[in-house]
Amino acid sequence: MSKNDEALNLVEAKIKELRTNVPIKTFNKNKLAEVEINKFYYNGETVNRIMIVLRANGCEHYKKNGGCSMCSHFNGTMPNDIVSDKNYIEQWNSVVNGSFSDEKIENFSLNNFPVVCVYNLGSLLNPNEISVNAVKYIFQSLNTFKDIKKVIIESRAEYVTDDILNVIKNNFSGVVEVGIGVESTNSTIRQLCHHKGLQKLSTITNAVRTLHKHNFKALAYVNFKPCFLTEEEAIQDAIQTTVDSYNIGFDAVSIEPTSLQEFSLANHLKLLGYYRVPWLWSLQTIVKGVYEKLNNNGVLDLRLGGYFDEEVLSGSQGEGFAGKNEIFPYETSGNCKYCTPNFIECIKEFNKTYDKNKLLSIKPCEHCYNVWLDECKIKDSRSIAQRIIDILK
Ligand code: SF4
Ligand SMILES: [Zn+2]
Repeated sequence: MSKNDEALNLVEAKIKELRTNVPIKTFNKNKLAEVEINKFYYNGETVNRIMIVLRANGCEHYKKNGGCSMCSHFNGTMPNDIVSDKNYIEQWNSVVNGSFSDEKIENFSLNNFPVVCVYNLGSLLNPNEISVNAVKYIFQSLNTFKDIKKVIIESRAEYVTDDILNVIKNNFSGVVEVGIGVESTNSTIRQLCHHKGLQKLSTITNAVRTLHKHNFKALAYVNFKPCFLTEEEAIQDAIQTTVDSYNIGFDAVSIEPTSLQEFSLANHLKLLGYYRVPWLWSLQTIVKGVYEKLNNNGVLDLRLGGYFDEEVLSGSQGEGFAGKNEIFPYETSGNCKYCTPNFIECIKEFNKTYDKNKLLSIKPCEHCYNVWLDECKIKDSRSIAQRIIDILK
């Protein structure tokens, strides 16, 4: 067996073992998992975005192979139960009539949100996770709100097919953007560090081609700082993957710094002392590096995603950290306690404007900037497979 195969087996075995500790929870299947509102940049202006997270059947990759190393979205699902079409439709109707929130929201309408995200803790284009009928119902409904400019959904690349895109296209006349987890264009990192279960990059390039053939937009998710990489390696990987994603043809890239949810491999390594969440300072280097490598003097559709500090309108149907809900991370990327809040405000400003100077102009913090610089000097001469064998064997 090659070292890479041995390392992959170790990663998968550990992830599967960690998942056995996830408590079995019961959720109301007719209620959404979460609704979040924040600001977004669209067509040159700052607009309101609503993110609707369906209580769903969850990701097939997680069910079959344990899922990705940084993700525990499945914590918000019920492995022994099935969310039916009827449940999805009830959930969706609660968005349409505004009844999703326990507190009455004055004049709530989807028409107030030019950008609407519909997520299902997995792949919305995978009929094994949510049926074609339920997807059709949701898009038919979205089509009645004429002020919605763009709908964003998420799917693994392998579920992007002509058939499902035709269903959406035939029922919705607005712009649809599909977010695809690329994570890294380096296959060793994608397979061993992310445990993405997506061997060939061609699956991703084909998905982008299919999306464009049907006039959909393609958004790449780039996970920044997976397990087993040093900060500096993770920075370089995020820069290269972002550049590659634009070159593959993605219309937009969202860099997603790793957050920690319970029962993920990233969280396990952190508890062992082998992992620290990404530094926010690194995001400055990444954004600068992407612009430089692409030699771009204009404005890229480049976003900083993941969890920071959002207004959660609804959710919390289970025990969670910090009063948030079970899919919310308990630790997000950060610097020190003195400069993190301001940095997060600057990230929000960046996402509202795409003005990179909102990030690049942040002055070094006297408490932590030098610590970050020192962390970036840490090197590991071992191969990634060897690191995994050393920690997990
Ligand atoms: S990141 Fe996406 S593909 Fe990976 S386990 Fe989570 S939901 Fe599934
Ligand atoms: Zn600081």
